[in-house]
Amino acid sequence: MTEKTNHKRLWSRLMAMAKLGATPNGGCNRQALTDLDSMGRSLLIEWANEIGCSHHYDEIGNLFIRREGQSPQLPVILVGSHLDTQPSGGKFDGVYGVLGGLEVLHTLTEKGIDTQHSIELVVWTNEEGCRFDCAMMGSAVWTQSMPLQLAYDLQAFDNQARVEDELIRLGQKGQVAASYFPIKAAFELHIEQGPILELEKLTIGVVKGAQHMSRHNITVWGQEAHAGPTPMSSRRDPMMALSLFLPKLYQLAEEYSPDSRITFGTIDVEPASPNTVPGKLMLTMDIRHPDLATYLDMLEKSEQIISQSCGSLDLEFQLKQSWHAPGVEFSDACIVSVQQAVDDLGYSNKTMVSGAGHDAVNLARIVNTSMIFIPCRDGLSHNEAEYASPTDVGKGADVLLNAILSQAV
Ligand SMILES: [Zn+2]
Repeated sequence: MTEKTNHKRLWSRLMAMAKLGATPNGGCNRQALTDLDSMGRSLLIEWANEIGCSHHYDEIGNLFIRREGQSPQLPVILVGSHLDTQPSGGKFDGVYGVLGGLEVLHTLTEKGIDTQHSIELVVWTNEEGCRFDCAMMGSAVWTQSMPLQLAYDLQAFDNQARVEDELIRLGQKGQVAASYFPIKAAFELHIEQGPILELEKLTIGVVKGAQHMSRHNITVWGQEAHAGPTPMSSRRDPMMALSLFLPKLYQLAEEYSPDSRITFGTIDVEPASPNTVPGKLMLTMDIRHPDLATYLDMLEKSEQIISQSCGSLDLEFQLKQSWHAPGVEFSDACIVSVQQAVDDLGYSNKTMVSGAGHDAVNLARIVNTSMIFIPCRDGLSHNEAEYASPTDVGKGADVLLNAILSQAV
């Protein structure tokens, strides 16, 4: 048997929350640890109080709202996301996961459904990383992947205020340690922030993990030469190497489609003169794939391609990794709960991986975790035009409710 949430209530709360920091173009500007962010949290607490939930802040300001289970000593079911937004953000990114979680708690209370496990709704502090230069900060501290003091000392771009001072100013620096407590399962509901569900006319993304990703600096050296007198055959031209390896690298991505991603986001030459063969070419390559073996294979093959292309022209090159974020595979138990809920509800769906970072990705390293996606219009997010339909919003919350119930009862 499946349960359903109150779609209208969830939608009206999303619209009410969006008024805090509303922008002229219909978006939201409610950045982390501002007065508006604090007002958003207060509004959430008000709603949670109405259904008899308790709440507390931990020492990095993560807000936990608790609906007590029949057996409070059991590990909790955690649900949540973030309420802070980008400066020109939307109404749904993060907020949907929080208010969807609240809607689950409200529905359970309203229907008198008791669960064995307590359920906690979490609002992570500073997920966006736009006012303070660290995305997913609250969950990073909580999972011990970032030292508390380092987070406290981050300074705001707008007024140089420290995180710790802002927490104190807003009354959100709690006593409870920002660290792991026993959790049976964690779920984050989110808009997809990409175009796939909408393109395929599907309602739910059953998210099985986040992709492996890394950035690489490619440098190729040639010899500066005059564009006129130097015959093509006697040039040592890094751009010729580029013309060889670029099509092959795109071909490589094609071979591993549809989950592969390869991006050349920046390119520079020296001396950057229209009538000089460049002496040096520098570009960045961003490679992503959800499957570790395939990702590593792509890395190895891309190096071979670049090496062979440069070698055939007798040009020196260097390939250097500048950033790496290991992928995450979400918990099978959580994925099964979500898939079962979607199937029982009869909503169209597909399994997918997250292309973006989320608090759930931090969490998944130490807690059984998974995510649920719904479509967003034109795949837009971090954009004032961000939009998800009331129907999809409601259905996503239904899936969350039933997935949680399967773990909490
Ligand atoms: Zn988000």
